[in-house]
Amino acid sequence: MFARAAGQNPGIERERHVRRDEIAAGLAEVDARIAAACRAVGRDRGEVTLIAVTKTRPAEDVRILAELGVRDIGENRDQEAAQKARELAGLSLTWHFVGQLQTNKVRSVVEYADVIHSVDRVRLVEAISREAVRQGRRIGCLVQIALDDDPARGGARPADVLELADEVTLAEGLWLGGVMAVAPLGEDPAKAFARLRDLATRVQEQHPRATMVSAGMSEDLAEAIAFGATHVRVGTALLGRRKPFVR
Ligand SMILES: *Cc1c(COP(=O)(O)O)cnc(C)c1O
Repeated sequence: MFARAAGQNPGIERERHVRRDEIAAGLAEVDARIAAACRAVGRDRGEVTLIAVTKTRPAEDVRILAELGVRDIGENRDQEAAQKARELAGLSLTWHFVGQLQTNKVRSVVEYADVIHSVDRVRLVEAISREAVRQGRRIGCLVQIALDDDPARGGARPADVLELADEVTLAEGLWLGGVMAVAPLGEDPAKAFARLRDLATRVQEQHPRATMVSAGMSEDLAEAIAFGATHVRVGTALLGRRKPFVR
């Protein structure tokens, strides 16, 4: 094709092709990193699910990911997530809400989220349960654990994790998936994920089916996998760097 002709008529199709190739390349790279991390510690690749974190990205990126076989989608802001989930309702996707959650957003989040990763207080358990029952839904809940003392990042204190896990299993309309954490800034992630693994083990002793360990992002997915992550939440390495101020 002549470059000039293409330039005069670039077309949305062509742009989409370029984006699809970019995302496919990111996905291949992330997949290879996950596989290598599993191999390094003798884990089966099938034990780790990739959640594509699509916050700040257009719905079209999610559509492309779905075409490439990624079915688990993570979002952290209700308004944006609700809109995307509505637009893509025809696709069979699993929506993971991974952001901090205010109780006044619970009604909306329960409408589209399949799993909420940021359950970190009893009040939130109660609110999600009430809404799940009202909407006739069953919502997976992960207890988010704070691995440092920074309250701004959310998460329950390690001492409160078992009680919260019990609360989830007793609440109507909820199922306990397991635990979630974000590695603290400025600490070796392996050390933090080792603490997470201990807590995950203790939760599983009480609740054997709560096997999910949501940990690991673009920078630290290998360390998370080494310490038992079953779900890695990856944005940047898959879709490129997010702009600091978007939408
Ligand atoms: C944004 C986000 C991610 C993905 O982070 P990247 O570094 O872009 O891979 C994972 N988990 C949570 C909770 C997030 O908010």
